[in-house]
Amino acid sequence: MPTSTEKQTEVLIAEDEESFIEALELNLSREGFVVRIARDGMEALESFKSRPADIVLLDIMLPKMSGLDVCRQIRMFSGVPIIMLTAKSTEIDTVVGLEIGADDYVTKPFRIHELISRMRAVIRRSTQEQKDAERAQSPKSTGDEIKTTNENILQIGEITLDPDRHECIVRGSEVMLPRKEFELLEQLMLHAGKVVMREVLIERIWGFDYVGDTKTLDVHVKRLRSRIEEDPSNPHFITTIRGLGYKLELPKGSK
Ligand code: CA
Repeated sequence: MPTSTEKQTEVLIAEDEESFIEALELNLSREGFVVRIARDGMEALESFKSRPADIVLLDIMLPKMSGLDVCRQIRMFSGVPIIMLTAKSTEIDTVVGLEIGADDYVTKPFRIHELISRMRAVIRRSTQEQKDAERAQSPKSTGDEIKTTNENILQIGEITLDPDRHECIVRGSEVMLPRKEFELLEQLMLHAGKVVMREVLIERIWGFDYVGDTKTLDVHVKRLRSRIEEDPSNPHFITTIRGLGYKLELPKGSK
């Protein structure tokens, strides 16, 4: 039950099917969310630009601009939690595969309680991340090969990561990383040269309450490799340790 002292969470819903709109509006307001509706992709993007929401629910098949494009556009300037609403489970692979940067997805028809618990989970993680970012000013424990040039900046070989500014530089060029991939790289860099167990990565990045499929981790690793590896099919930064997890390799003869 929402309390009156709590700031209400505003959700922007991009959906064009009236039956879904009605059900979402009714159930989410009952749960204490402030609901804003956009009936096509353009409207959703304009609405978010004029006033950001705390979380965005995006249907994929929308008039004027697809939910995938809306997500990509929003990701160019905002890290707001985004949940995709997919009509078919086969669309999930598309959502994940297209690297659009959504935080989660649900398949229609979905149970409203499942949706709400996922919404709360992504909001909680995003709030926690902000708090962590604000608090994370203490120098992290580092090995010899990890240079902390400035506060939290991590540098290993050709990769430099600045968690405070959400910047990643690989071989001299900035690489845009969606939040989860950024966190994945950060976790691996913090433990560079060591295997980071799958369960540890899932827990640190998606949280204890993660309800999705563990394949999500592999999909994110694949996406991350495609952005930072010279040859993603023959990775030399992030290696798979079968049955255990992943490892960020230290540069050969690191100096
Ligand atoms: Ca639709």
